[in-house]
Amino acid sequence: MSAAGWEAVIGLEIHVQLATRTKIFCATEASRDGAEPNTLVDPVTLGMPGVLPVLNREVVELAIRLGLALGCTIAPRSRFSRKHYFYPDLPKGYQISQYDEPLCTGGAIVTEVDGEERRFRLTRIHLEEDAGKTVHDALRNRSLVDYNRAGVPLVETVSEPDLRSPADAMAYMKAMHRIVTALGVSDGNMEQGNFRCDANVSVRRVGDPRLGTKVELKNINSFRFVGRGLEHEIARQVDVLEAGGHLVQETRLWDEAAGVTRPMRTKEMAHDYRYFPDPDLMVLEVDEAWIERVRATLPELPRARTQRFVDALGLSAYDADVLTQSAARADYFEAVAQAVGDPKLAANWIQGELLGLLNKDGLDIEASPVPAERLAELLVLLRDERLSSKMAKACFAEMFSSSVAPADWLAAHGAQITDEDTLRAMVAAALDAHPDEVAGFHAGKAQLLGFFVGQVMKQSRGKANPQRVNQLVRSQLEERR
Ligand code: ADP
Ligand code: MG
Repeated sequence: MSAAGWEAVIGLEIHVQLATRTKIFCATEASRDGAEPNTLVDPVTLGMPGVLPVLNREVVELAIRLGLALGCTIAPRSRFSRKHYFYPDLPKGYQISQYDEPLCTGGAIVTEVDGEERRFRLTRIHLEEDAGKTVHDALRNRSLVDYNRAGVPLVETVSEPDLRSPADAMAYMKAMHRIVTALGVSDGNMEQGNFRCDANVSVRRVGDPRLGTKVELKNINSFRFVGRGLEHEIARQVDVLEAGGHLVQETRLWDEAAGVTRPMRTKEMAHDYRYFPDPDLMVLEVDEAWIERVRATLPELPRARTQRFVDALGLSAYDADVLTQSAARADYFEAVAQAVGDPKLAANWIQGELLGLLNKDGLDIEASPVPAERLAELLVLLRDERLSSKMAKACFAEMFSSSVAPADWLAAHGAQITDEDTLRAMVAAALDAHPDEVAGFHAGKAQLLGFFVGQVMKQSRGKANPQRVNQLVRSQLEERR
């Protein structure tokens, strides 16, 4: 954080696109890979005169799901308002959004920051529709609008001003991302704008209970940008105040390339949205039975899963955390661990070999060329000492690049040699063939041990069990003293 004596106060607003098939108020597809601009539109999306919106039940269900997972209160009655402003990407001239009566209130994100458990309260979660997208074509000096995104269902999650540092903000955002994806409420795709964060930030003297003037920071759509943007904005605010200046309430944009925040609009320019209840939509009523039906379908939540990996499967807290970064990763791990019967071995291989190669190719685990069953087959061979760990690594590299089956690789390369008599004979032969080195070892050249192990490994074309060879070389050298 910035200068001593100052404290940052941060509240996050995160927009999450809900993973429904259709839009929030009509039956048009919400999104489609490679859809041409303005092909996912219809009279409701475009706000033609005389059309009526009809609320998508699935949207409500997903929002309840998220609300329950975060410990919110689900309102038995909530309603939609019209939020008016003019912008070309808003076809109706207003956005339908929940305002004074949101679906969910309260709740919290519980997560660890620097090894300490923290609880960040939520103010609310409300439903709303997304706007379209304006594309500025600088080359031809014109702007184009794509309404495919208009009417796509969102929830806006609003936190209390409980966060105190960029690290808090990043942890909150990551925890929220893990939860929405684990619940299947959203795909959480940040590049596509399906999980977007705005940060409200102010600073105050340590010990001052009052809130300072806040700035809303936009254009921070990655975990890293949130951290860096907030860091710079906090430093800027402290500098202004220390120099005797005062802050204005405004919206600023994070410029990642320049490493600064820039003003976008001030409060004087802020809109009066003229909110009023949307007369085209009925009050949204959610009864207890519906809430309980949704509750019954909640999966194990990320934090509970992390804890179970530690308590029941014996992983370290670090490993458990890495392996529950996404539900897909945790599923993959559990499938391998169960098939091999050795969670620690599965954890090591997924974190070391698999994630290493996936990262190198920029792939998510869902797109892994080695499915969980295949990795399990390999680890069974390793567990049963049919492969040494070096052989298993070589095999894995081939599985990754050419999807060879571990059993076929084994058939082609031969199994590890673990038979005691065979190994003993191989070691004896190596010692017989190098009497000078044996004498050298006995004269005190201890490093020659490695030479003999190397000879046996070479002679066996890498297939002798290295630990056993090491032990046998030692004992036979001693016997020959
Ligand atoms: P607005 O009316 O401008 O939308 P809200 O009161 O609804 O403001 O708060 C929006 C977000 O800003 C919330 O996440 C809230 O926790 C946070 N917030 C409110 N006041 C402050 C402040 N002084 N400093 C930092 N964050 C704040
Ligand atoms: Mg607000």
